[in-house]
Amino acid sequence: MDMSYDYTPSEKVQIFLSNINNTKYNREIITGVKKFIDGDVPDDMKSFYSPEELKEISDLDGSSRDVQARMPVKITRHYFEQARHSKSLQRLIKASPNETLNLEGAEDPGKQMSYSPLEGMIHKYELALLYVASTCSAHCRFCYREELIAKKEVTRPDGTVAPKGLARIPEVHGYVKKHNEIVAAHGGRHPETGRERLREILMSGGDPMVLGNRNIAQWLCALAEAGIESIRIGTKELAFFPARFDESFLEMLDGFHELFPEVNLRLMVHFNHPDEFLKKDENGTFMENPEGGYEWLDDTRASVKRLRARNWINIDNQAPIIKGINNDPDALRIMQRELKRNGVENHYFFCGRDIVGYKAFNVPIEEAWRILNESQKGLSGVEAHARLSITHYKGKTEVVAVTDESIPGVPGAQKGVVIFKLLRSAADAKERCKVAIVGRNSQAIWFSDYNDRVVFDEAGLWSMYDIAPMSLQHAA
Ligand code: SF4
Repeated sequence: MDMSYDYTPSEKVQIFLSNINNTKYNREIITGVKKFIDGDVPDDMKSFYSPEELKEISDLDGSSRDVQARMPVKITRHYFEQARHSKSLQRLIKASPNETLNLEGAEDPGKQMSYSPLEGMIHKYELALLYVASTCSAHCRFCYREELIAKKEVTRPDGTVAPKGLARIPEVHGYVKKHNEIVAAHGGRHPETGRERLREILMSGGDPMVLGNRNIAQWLCALAEAGIESIRIGTKELAFFPARFDESFLEMLDGFHELFPEVNLRLMVHFNHPDEFLKKDENGTFMENPEGGYEWLDDTRASVKRLRARNWINIDNQAPIIKGINNDPDALRIMQRELKRNGVENHYFFCGRDIVGYKAFNVPIEEAWRILNESQKGLSGVEAHARLSITHYKGKTEVVAVTDESIPGVPGAQKGVVIFKLLRSAADAKERCKVAIVGRNSQAIWFSDYNDRVVFDEAGLWSMYDIAPMSLQHAA
């Protein structure tokens, strides 16, 4: 496709952009373990890592097990304040030598480069994802974009090797328009890829909220002018620096909404644990609000309220279930209840991806399903909307059910089965909602751990690797 796109914002957009308050923020970020080693951090942060922890990490610097090269260390003052009283958040944010004990994993998780028509764009469904920033205010150790954030070299389908780059506004604007014109001229499907009209864009990275208000507005307007109907912003900023969602940001969004009232905005937020947004007393117990529910951190609550005051903005939470961080049904139950009560939808929980070093973080698939199922006991129907998803190379896949009973006479099903449902296929929309069933393996943390026990696979999750259901193997 022609890559020499040009885009000039319309006059109304140019006037809007020139009036934006491009507020600067001081997140008081500490980057790198060396700052802690050198004592170059505020006094109250000096004991965040013990001397032994610092030595163990720095001993690995420059080696094949370099922890900071796998994923750079970064924390905000706000997150530090919550993490100092929370083992779960410490595990999320503090580097550990365990991360590089086993460096198995995919250099390009989800084979994203196979779906990348432009630098920084992943186009799979009627939705495309953009890398608009290559960092976040702080860095989760389990990050499933570690290859982007750590600027690792990735092999592309054409054989070239280079770090993943960021998307650029003119190219993306031009690509969306061109794609949609071709789709419209061919009865609703692209003649080569079969994809539908591009209606939605997920701005991601990294975290788009590290960009200034004007830069975010440039993206929003360019996408709206290209014909995008719904824009998502994937962000963990409500956890890392909630004050970012201040009046100046909301003023910018209001201005955007005035210009493009039909464009829906969704914040795809990322809370892993209620410790990230609830107040605790000196015993470490969540503080009940006499008027109902629990007490939220003031900044976080105020930011959510500001967003919720606009009925054209939706907020959805999605988070992976990670070992030692939130593999805890009680924490997840409180989180789902409190988020829904405050107008944040519970969208997805994820099984961890096969990133480099994933064995240090991922909870077995069947265990993640049990944890989520357990956490939803006692929740009302509307509070328990979240599904458990795992991102297969073919597309987003739900872990629908795990059974305890065997299925008599079915090879591979003696210990019960796991049922997967392909929620959508990046390559073929017709495969939506097709199912695969495998025999149980309580240790399985990735699809390949079920290779020897596929029972039924109409979704083709294993046939793409030439693995046939056991009944067919026996028949052959
Ligand atoms: S917020 Fe998301 S992209 Fe940023 S470090 Fe955490 S997991 Fe990675």
